Amino acid sequence: MATTTESGCLFIISAPSGTGKTSLIRALLGKDTHLRLSISYTSRPRRSAEIDGRDYHFVSKDIFRQMQARGEFLESAEVYGNLYGTSKKWIDDAIATGQDIVLEIDCQGAAQVRRFFSNAIGIFILPPSCRALEKRLVSRDQDDTEVIRKRLEAVREEVSHVNEFDYVIINDELEKALNGLACIVNAERLKRERQIEKHQVLITQLS
Ligand code: 5GP
Repeated sequence: MATTTESGCLFIISAPSGTGKTSLIRALLGKDTHLRLSISYTSRPRRSAEIDGRDYHFVSKDIFRQMQARGEFLESAEVYGNLYGTSKKWIDDAIATGQDIVLEIDCQGAAQVRRFFSNAIGIFILPPSCRALEKRLVSRDQDDTEVIRKRLEAVREEVSHVNEFDYVIINDELEKALNGLACIVNAERLKRERQIEKHQVLITQLS
């Protein structure tokens, strides 16, 4: 298993539920064709608008546990009673080809990934207010009242991990948040160490 991302960047994006993270990441991927999103495995039931293989790989709890026992996940976590995990093989393949990777995972998963990839870049997305968060969770009409209550209760715990991330974005207006996200991605790509590695020949010629 690779322990460094070498030429590609590994972005971890986390956020409390209902922050608009998924729409933001979709918009980013639409704008930036060099980013690859890892599709997680989950035991959560598929929502009506979701497509297997696009939003998640939907599997039963049994299958998930078997995959876990075979060591197929880079990280895995239980979130709101469902199991979620990132495919180790997919990450290894993406790293081998030098791609920039996006992981949309929770804080528990982010901590596990950082243990393997200390140069992973953490981005935390926050809603503009508690009210906005509650409104979004209710209006998106994806989960029942009990699930929404669980998700709201979990916000405080999730936000307590903000210090573990390198960047924080407030998702008030999509365009503004998207611009912030794109700036982070570009700035990370232009970091000295990456540029020196990528442009070794040019730098040697010029020096
Ligand atoms: P949802 O059920 O709303 O799609 O996601 C619930 C939470 O699980 C979100 O915080 C999401 O980021 C997180 N999540 C999604 N995929 C993974 C994964 O592969 N690993 C971990 N640790 N969390 C995940």
